[in-house]
Amino acid sequence: MNKLPLLPTTVVGSHAKPSWWHQCKGLIDTGEWGSQDLSELLDDAVDIAILDQERAGLDIITDGESRRLDGYVDGYYAIIEGIQATEPKRKAGPWGYDQQTRYKATAPIKAPAGLGIVSEYTYLVSKTSLHTKATCAGPLTFGSRIHPANIYKDTVSVAEEFAEVINTELKELVANGATFIQIDEPARGNVTGEEMARLFNKATNGVKAKLAFHICFGNRAGRARFKRSYGDYFPGVLNANADQFVLEYASREMSEVEKWSDWADGRELGAGIIDVKSFHPESPEDVASRLRDVLKYAKPDTVFVNPDCGFGWSPRYIAVSKLTAMVQGTAIVRKELSL
Ligand SMILES: [Zn+2]
Repeated sequence: MNKLPLLPTTVVGSHAKPSWWHQCKGLIDTGEWGSQDLSELLDDAVDIAILDQERAGLDIITDGESRRLDGYVDGYYAIIEGIQATEPKRKAGPWGYDQQTRYKATAPIKAPAGLGIVSEYTYLVSKTSLHTKATCAGPLTFGSRIHPANIYKDTVSVAEEFAEVINTELKELVANGATFIQIDEPARGNVTGEEMARLFNKATNGVKAKLAFHICFGNRAGRARFKRSYGDYFPGVLNANADQFVLEYASREMSEVEKWSDWADGRELGAGIIDVKSFHPESPEDVASRLRDVLKYAKPDTVFVNPDCGFGWSPRYIAVSKLTAMVQGTAIVRKELSL
């Protein structure tokens, strides 16, 4: 496999899905499609995600999380034992975080067949010769929508249980060749950086791979969920045994990027310099300008270039155009650095 260039370009995880993916993924539930139909749809969607990322010129790709039918985390709730869905109190009107399905614990939580990320990963590496990254939601992300009921003491105890489930999955990923794994844990507002780090370390304990920690502020339907300040979590979250922090800057007009020079301790920064929430198409020069900003505060050999978050809520043509601009803008800055 090729050596990575300076300023490797990658994605946070999910790729924008084609219209047919959205339209057809539910046909198995209505009885119009069978399991073979769905399985072909999922393979095709991953193949398209790989093709889009390869054509855009990315250095490190994912499977686009294209098998996760209900988003980067929701699908897992269907295969986890010991939880039961509860009715959202608000169902009508504009989409909001209060409309997400929530759950309550009914027994100790288990995922006897794993989370399915291992088979996502083995399919990906069988179809590409590029570098790859595997992604998994973090313990707080899994746990925050499950009411502890009388099974667990509190939400953090639920997250601790998930850390064990995640740890098993990550070790299996490494056994299957994964060398770069990212934990996705949007900031929660009510949990400190130290606590996020403790749970990250529990989930990744003994996992022998390059570990990235993606912390954003929520992206569902292109909306943020929490107060958008990394200063509320750093430097405490640096206690995480992560090799890289993958952060959201572009949608915040590069706010707090200057703080990286205080927080940097030699570890890598996955700098979010594409705004996935905006329809505005960044030009390569926009990207280059943001990347130059990042490089005022981070050493070039510690910087990875990525969008702010996944493209799960973006139309595909917009995602492809943004990724292409990201790669072209990075090429401008690489050239400047080489002069
Ligand atoms: Zn994110």
